[in-house]
Amino acid sequence: MSPDVIVIGAGAIGTSIAYQLAKAGLKVMVFDRGRVGGEATGASAGMIQLNPDRGTPPAYSSLGAESARLFTALAAELLERTGIDIGYRRASLLHVTLDEAEEAQLRAHRAWQLDQGMSVGWLDGAAAVDVEPALNPNVRAALLYQDHYQVVPRVLAQALARAATDLGAVVLEGASVDRLLTQGDRVVGVALGGETIRSPETIVATGAWASAWSDALRTPIPVRPVRGQMVALSTTATPLHHAVSSSDGYVLTKADGSTIVGTTVEEVGFDARPTAAGIARLLTLGPRLVPRLADATVSAAWAGLRPGTPDRLPLLGRPPGWGGIVLATGHFREGILLAPITGELVLDLLARRRPRLPIEAFDPGRFLVRAA
Ligand SMILES: Cc1cc2nc3c(=O)[nH]c(=O)nc-3n(C[C@H](O)[C@H](O)[C@H](O)COP(=O)(O)OP(=O)(O)OC[C@H]3O[C@@H](n4cnc5c(N)ncnc54)[C@H](O)[C@@H]3O)c2cc1C
Repeated sequence: MSPDVIVIGAGAIGTSIAYQLAKAGLKVMVFDRGRVGGEATGASAGMIQLNPDRGTPPAYSSLGAESARLFTALAAELLERTGIDIGYRRASLLHVTLDEAEEAQLRAHRAWQLDQGMSVGWLDGAAAVDVEPALNPNVRAALLYQDHYQVVPRVLAQALARAATDLGAVVLEGASVDRLLTQGDRVVGVALGGETIRSPETIVATGAWASAWSDALRTPIPVRPVRGQMVALSTTATPLHHAVSSSDGYVLTKADGSTIVGTTVEEVGFDARPTAAGIARLLTLGPRLVPRLADATVSAAWAGLRPGTPDRLPLLGRPPGWGGIVLATGHFREGILLAPITGELVLDLLARRRPRLPIEAFDPGRFLVRAA
């Protein structure tokens, strides 16, 4: 097939883009050097709500809110097209504190969020334990976010890839792209395994590995890997009714009944192995938030590499001076949440129409300006 668009990377971002483009009638080829959803996407917790604070740029809050909204229709659409249930479930979030000093911070955070029009409740410790009886009884207070949802991220990527394939896309696993083909100021395709494939448009959705294209594009792509570790616990006790988070991490029950505890935020390069210290921290945190987890058995531990950026915002758009290429990377801690809107925005860019939300804040050229 001679594609209209090549997508490099089949995480949540690449597969969402591939699905939107295939749905719009474009011939899409997706290459991933590993498996669909096999990196950060498969490692992630799959919570799909942004928790903005004073420092969050409004454009980013809008991106998160719109993407969260898109999930309802997307989950139904993927189920209908592929028969795959992406585990889209309400998982109202209780953000708790066990610390008196932190209570004041939570009150201030809530006041700001209410001011922004968000819906966030306040529960004292007893009320929090009332709604989630498994909570540590020493919880002092909690913020309650009713409209919080989750998905199973690897299944999301697989369902998006399947839906794209059903629409004619080709998704190749174990296919590592070695090089971008360029002609003047255009990217005209890719080289992999001694072959070249030409295409009018190429999308870089290679997550934490995106900086590899900086030299070819003569553009800084300052995306770096930020490791997050996770453990899965198995317990016969009733599943948690809420996702429970704190300033140290979170616990939630997934659609398959497992309870996951996350996470760490570590800058250790391209090392996606869980460590003794990381797992020990999570195994302490879980029972601290939900005491009965002390009796749970450990079923798995893993880590993934989030694509972090200097300003914590994604890179979404064309690199300065280049045609035929779009960057869609750097989604850091929110790439699952932001997958649906990223797919739609890339479609807007390729269709040369005004993006449905402002994306200037995510312009990949912003780092070039700073470097100058
Ligand atoms: C522990 C943890 C918990 C998280 N929890 C959440 C959460 O609750 N909610 C949320 O929204 N986000 C969460 N995240 C963040 C989220 O997982 C990421 O932002 C998201 O997965 C990024 O998706 P991606 O497609 O850009 O990257 P990835 O999923 O890493 O995909 C990139 C793909 O590119 C491929 N690739 C790289 N180079 C090449 C090449 N040269 N040729 C071919 N293929 C290549 C890789 O094999 C990989 O499959 C979490 C992350 C971690 C680690």
